[in-house]
Amino acid sequence: MNLNNSPVTQHQFQGHDFHLKRDDLLHSHFNGNKARKFAELLETDLTNVTQLVGWGSAQANSLTSLAALAKIKGIKLKYFVDHKPAWLDQNPNGNYRAAKELGAEIISLKEQLGPNAPHPHAYIQANFASSTNSYIVPEGGRFQSARQGIVQLAEEILSWSRFEKNKKIKVALPSGTGTTALYLAQVLAPQGIEVLTCPCVGGKHYLMQQFDELGDFSYYPTILELENKHHFGKLYLKDYEIWRLLQDETHIEFDLLYDPMMWRCLLPWLSDNPDASLLYIHQGGLLGNETMLPRYRRKYDAPKDEW
Ligand SMILES: *Cc1c(COP(=O)(O)O)cnc(C)c1O
Repeated sequence: MNLNNSPVTQHQFQGHDFHLKRDDLLHSHFNGNKARKFAELLETDLTNVTQLVGWGSAQANSLTSLAALAKIKGIKLKYFVDHKPAWLDQNPNGNYRAAKELGAEIISLKEQLGPNAPHPHAYIQANFASSTNSYIVPEGGRFQSARQGIVQLAEEILSWSRFEKNKKIKVALPSGTGTTALYLAQVLAPQGIEVLTCPCVGGKHYLMQQFDELGDFSYYPTILELENKHHFGKLYLKDYEIWRLLQDETHIEFDLLYDPMMWRCLLPWLSDNPDASLLYIHQGGLLGNETMLPRYRRKYDAPKDEW
């Protein structure tokens, strides 16, 4: 399994040249940045561990990656979700389907314990924290074990940058927990490479809180923002439009949850910074499009006379 040294390709978007780090090509189920974040866990000796225990949304990219990791390790994945939309079991798709096929056990606490069920994180703390055969993975891979794989990514970027002499290289990637952008900045910023990101979950303030919870750091990514509030997982026509433009101009499929916001922030930024040489990181997440794309099509592509 080749979980590093993803290729870098060259493209143009809206008149801007950029390079693309293809972490989407790392592995079909060990998706993009989750492959980086879970690389250390993959190498860790889990001899006495019989199950990974995680939590998050029923459609998270990390769900599939954890399910793949558990399968490779020959152990179980117990994954707790707060609730699970009813249609998902009738019509399983995307990350949920892939994780099920990989053998993950996905448990909805509201279904099992009723409307007053505790938050999955609290439930796991109470029931698995002292279990020696369980390994608990925080939501979205926001943990210090993510560092090693992200440092590997940073080193690949540094090796590549040596062929891009005298250019003002900027590395851009959208943030969820911000773990990837933050750990990248620790290696790249001291080498003069600025890391640009945007807060896809919550706003700038929330993202900075997430940074602080990982520890004290000397370097931080630069946070770009949209003018208007943006809610994670909601559908926005502008997101869909930029995603389709990207597809038309690069012939590459980007993810629909994170990438549109980053590109919407980047286009004006690139116009203001014409001497920047952009390396965008494709962090995978394409299985999630199986869920997002039909939602977008229903909302924006339906013929008007059917309304
Ligand atoms: C998880 C994920 C992110 C967010 O990564 P963080 O390290 O949590 O900031 C961005 N894009 C994709 C496709 C992801 O799967």
